[in-house]
Amino acid sequence: MSIRRTVVNSLINAEDIKPIEIPKVTAIFEENVFTLKKARKYLSEDVYKSLCYSIKGGKKIDRYTANQIAIGLKAWAESKGVTHYTHWFQPLSGTTAEKHDSFFTLKGDGTPIEEFDGSTLVQQEPDASSFPSGGLRTTFEARGYSAWDPSSPAFIMEVGYSKTLCIPTIFISYTGESLDYKAPLLKALEVLNKSALDVCNYFDKNITKVTATLGWEQEYFIIDEALSNARPDIVQCGRTVFGALPAKGQQLEDHYFGSIHERVLSFMRDFEAEAYKLGIPLRTRHNEVAPSQFECAPIYEEVSIAVDHNTLLMDVMERVSHKHKLRVLLHEKPFAGINGSGKHNNWSMSTDTGVNLLAPGKTPKTNLMFLTFFINAIKAVHDYADLLGASIASAGNEYRLGANEAPPAIISVFVGEYLSKVLDEVEQRVGDKFDEQDEAILKLDIHKSIPELLLDNTDRNRTSPFAFTGNKFEFRAVGSSANCANAMTVLNTIMAETLKNFKIDVDKLIEKGEKKEIAILQTLQKYIKESKKILFEGDGYSEAWHHEAERRGLSFIATAPLALDAMISDKAKKLFSNNKVFTYQELEARHEIELEKYIKKVQIEARVMGDLALNHIIPAAINYQNKLLTNINGHKAAGFSEETYAGQLAILQKISTHIQAVHQKTKALVDARKEVNKIENTRTKAIAYSSQVKAAFFNDLRYHVDKLERFVNDDDWTLPKYRELLFLK
Ligand code: ADP
Ligand code: MG
Repeated sequence: MSIRRTVVNSLINAEDIKPIEIPKVTAIFEENVFTLKKARKYLSEDVYKSLCYSIKGGKKIDRYTANQIAIGLKAWAESKGVTHYTHWFQPLSGTTAEKHDSFFTLKGDGTPIEEFDGSTLVQQEPDASSFPSGGLRTTFEARGYSAWDPSSPAFIMEVGYSKTLCIPTIFISYTGESLDYKAPLLKALEVLNKSALDVCNYFDKNITKVTATLGWEQEYFIIDEALSNARPDIVQCGRTVFGALPAKGQQLEDHYFGSIHERVLSFMRDFEAEAYKLGIPLRTRHNEVAPSQFECAPIYEEVSIAVDHNTLLMDVMERVSHKHKLRVLLHEKPFAGINGSGKHNNWSMSTDTGVNLLAPGKTPKTNLMFLTFFINAIKAVHDYADLLGASIASAGNEYRLGANEAPPAIISVFVGEYLSKVLDEVEQRVGDKFDEQDEAILKLDIHKSIPELLLDNTDRNRTSPFAFTGNKFEFRAVGSSANCANAMTVLNTIMAETLKNFKIDVDKLIEKGEKKEIAILQTLQKYIKESKKILFEGDGYSEAWHHEAERRGLSFIATAPLALDAMISDKAKKLFSNNKVFTYQELEARHEIELEKYIKKVQIEARVMGDLALNHIIPAAINYQNKLLTNINGHKAAGFSEETYAGQLAILQKISTHIQAVHQKTKALVDARKEVNKIENTRTKAIAYSSQVKAAFFNDLRYHVDKLERFVNDDDWTLPKYRELLFLK
């Protein structure tokens, strides 16, 4: 029996793994987080106050305070059975990094003690020379260090019986360049706070802080682990490089919102329990459109916390899936021809007075505030569409965009019919200046149309990469395996920049003697005119839209290596350095890292394809070929006429043709890869990997392999098939 058959049979006996019983979510929520409430219990009043202060205002913590916090943290952690601690950070390699150290140490005289002090809390030097730094670390210093980020609470990670205290940190080089996702994100959020606050104060002087908010929706596939282990491509690439579509794919859409299989549900309950303990406020879970595809989403949070929580959750999901003998696939496109997975980033901004700046208001004044932020967001996307494209470009997302309900590779903004009309109305007061009467515009009852607006704007247009959904924008082009920080750093920086310029424009008009409201309206009108070409309400897949978008001069997310160019354009360099989010050097380093990641991903896929073709596909096909030959020769020997074995001959013919093609394409693929590997320049090499390796051979080779899968007898085929991966539980 083939490995595949053995694995498939073993599934039938798969035992259910019982999830941990959760009494009530509230009973375990944040159990493993050092919340301010716990800090209050473990810290003296003064130290607690300094901690709160530094969380809010980012004030530096002195040595004494750090020591006191460390003592409190250690006491809390030990009360929960923790023995080790780690600085936890999000390096650019895409996973999270931890290096565990024990509290245990020996004093000079050999006395064993448990110790954790302020300096270990605040700063650590991970032996991290193997984290990607795009040449930065070698340019400046040999190593980077991790620095405590008090704005993100410490937490305890439980893995089996071991419990580790995790200190969220940023990861930077000795000369201050950021080497992770978090450091630039925090800077972007700070500049957004500043510019948004200035604009808010036109409307309300009581507002003193603006926080960007994020609610991500994590899509994923979950499949049996034994089946996945029998697929070297899933093991090594997180996706299938071959596989014929099953007779039943997702055309019935019967999976969407269907009931969840018990085995999957038990996995969900388990990872949710872990998530709740870590303070991740998960709210929804449901089936997605594709078979074996699911989604979970939390209640939205401050962007930086939401980013930590998403990264943590991805870790937790992977760990818990193993426990359930399942494998979670976070890749953007695990299966060709079937929906890919995204991570919609729902984004808005809220004030410390409790106002959601992207929620239509109830009075003329709040309406104007809403329109201001709404239109500035549209302008930001319009002005920096290429940067948003770069922020989500990756080898995995490249497979997803533009197909099977994923947004197309053109950035546009969907606002819905109602708001389109509102924008038209503001815009159409051409020529004559706004006057008092025009304030009527502000009396539009936008808020009364909210039900209508929500209906108009929610999931209906799934092909829009950036959609307004009633009280937030939803950036849908983000890939499922991505760290949201990348997209969020860009989005919040471009919004900050746009708002900053908005204030300058409005102030100029006010200086000329214009009334504030009128100055704002006039500027908004100008912005609508300047950026309306980014607005699109129709079908993002249509041929017509592609032509139209080209005519409008909108930016296309080409292949990832080309899309990434936007990161290092003069415009991007100016934007990020003016806002102190990235220096030129940091941008160039990041650009290099993204390209390198791309090269490695495509390189590994190409190798795995070659491997599978030679070690699985061709041998399986030859086995069957031999069986057919024996059969045909038997017929011949027994004196049967050719028409009695014409079917066998026809199949043999087809199989032989495809075997030759697979062999020839595999060789050509290997040769192309060798050629491309000689290229020194990273960008040129990435582009070559994209065109000369991926585009030139992947689909072509796959075509012949998938044909063989259809012809070769089931018993000889070694790789679990799509119908097994997707439908067996
Ligand atoms: P769907 O897009 O599937 O219709 P929902 O509209 O319920 O789902 O919400 C999706 C996500 O948007 C959730 O994580 C939710 O918390 C988040 N969200 C809601 N309001 C905001 C907001 N003001 N800022 C950021 N995210 C938000
Ligand atoms: Mg959504």
